[in-house]
Amino acid sequence: MHAPRSENETRREIIYLDNNATTRVAPEVFEAMVPFLTEYYGNPSSAYSFGKFVEGHLKEAREKVASLLGCTPKEIIFTSCGTESDNMAIWSALQTSGKRHVVTTQVEHSAIMNQTDQLERMGFGVTRLPVQADGTLSLSDVENAIRDDTGIVSIMWANNETGVLFPVEEIASLCKKKGVLFHTDAVQTPGKIDLRHVAKSDIDFLSMSGHKLHAPKGVGVLYVKRRTKVVPYVIGGGQERGKRGGTENVASIIGLGRASELALEKLSDEQTRVRAMRDLFEETLLQRLPYIYINGKRDQRLPNTSNIAFDFVEAEAILMKLDVAGICASSGSACTTGSLDPSHVLSAMGLTPARARSCVRFSFSHYNRDTDIDHALEILPPMIEKLRAMSPLNPEHTDNFAYDVEAAREKEEKLMAATMASINE
Ligand code: PLP
Repeated sequence: MHAPRSENETRREIIYLDNNATTRVAPEVFEAMVPFLTEYYGNPSSAYSFGKFVEGHLKEAREKVASLLGCTPKEIIFTSCGTESDNMAIWSALQTSGKRHVVTTQVEHSAIMNQTDQLERMGFGVTRLPVQADGTLSLSDVENAIRDDTGIVSIMWANNETGVLFPVEEIASLCKKKGVLFHTDAVQTPGKIDLRHVAKSDIDFLSMSGHKLHAPKGVGVLYVKRRTKVVPYVIGGGQERGKRGGTENVASIIGLGRASELALEKLSDEQTRVRAMRDLFEETLLQRLPYIYINGKRDQRLPNTSNIAFDFVEAEAILMKLDVAGICASSGSACTTGSLDPSHVLSAMGLTPARARSCVRFSFSHYNRDTDIDHALEILPPMIEKLRAMSPLNPEHTDNFAYDVEAAREKEEKLMAATMASINE
């Protein structure tokens, strides 16, 4: 994909179906932020009233974010992003517990995957739990993985690639029984599922990120349950009641407060209209195209996410053609796009590398209209047919054994074994 050559090119009408990568800033959010970038630029820690005024608005934003989780404002720590919140939860739990083992899954976001890799290099133990073919997780696997030296269990609430939901509240109760702290990366959930019961659950830490719920990029939240010990990850001034150093990103936090209110207002639209739009999109494609598969347990997913395997076609080719047509979608996580490796999430679900490389994620939002879906549905089936016609794996080709990816792999392996045998003879 080339970089846009002109401003006009990026400004043309686009159909944005990549809301798990990031979301547009809601106009109401932008409006709420502007005065804090122009007029009210005081530092909320300043003692004079110009600073105190800003501090008051920060307090209000904290209350609004707390309402989203049904918790108290004191349980909210503002951070710079979802990644920082994830890193802070794990690092803090290991520091306060003095333990050296982490339980997580094989399908986490790179914020957790790369941090736990780093912890392993530092000598900590990490257990990464596998998932089933439909992307779900076994509770007994979690239970069996917890050891005496486990400092934290960190399991995402919703997978960013497939939308599959994990039963984190049940897992949190299990951890509590075992006396182990529990963190969930809930970055993909606000505004899509109801989180107002979080404070009543046994979840100790929960991460969120502004740019996934129509607030700006560069602001995040770590919820820390009352009485759970926490130490700062970013060390500096006494901001955030001494739990996170650094002058607050005031305008973005104000925006996040407004976005949290909107997320609650739009929740039912997301769970009904957006879900119906997603389901119609999938059903129509399934009817029109052979050899396509929906990844992830269909009735245990976020309402806005669709991850589809288009056998015999490379996702990168689909995405390039969609880009030319003004449609934004993605393969895997935006943070790992560009890597030629198949998605670690789809690989953990047991997809063959060939099938994993054919998968495209479409993620909708309440800003999408029926016309967006109609347009995408008009474009996609003929596009896939054309790409398949050119593909060396074209299933219509009479002597093509790759009609079925599994059979193709088996046949490839047999051919290879026969060749090796004849060489060794
Ligand atoms: N966790 C998940 C599940 C995500 O999808 C993302 C972003 O894609 C992050 C964490 C990281 O959030 P941020 O971009 O705010 O650092």
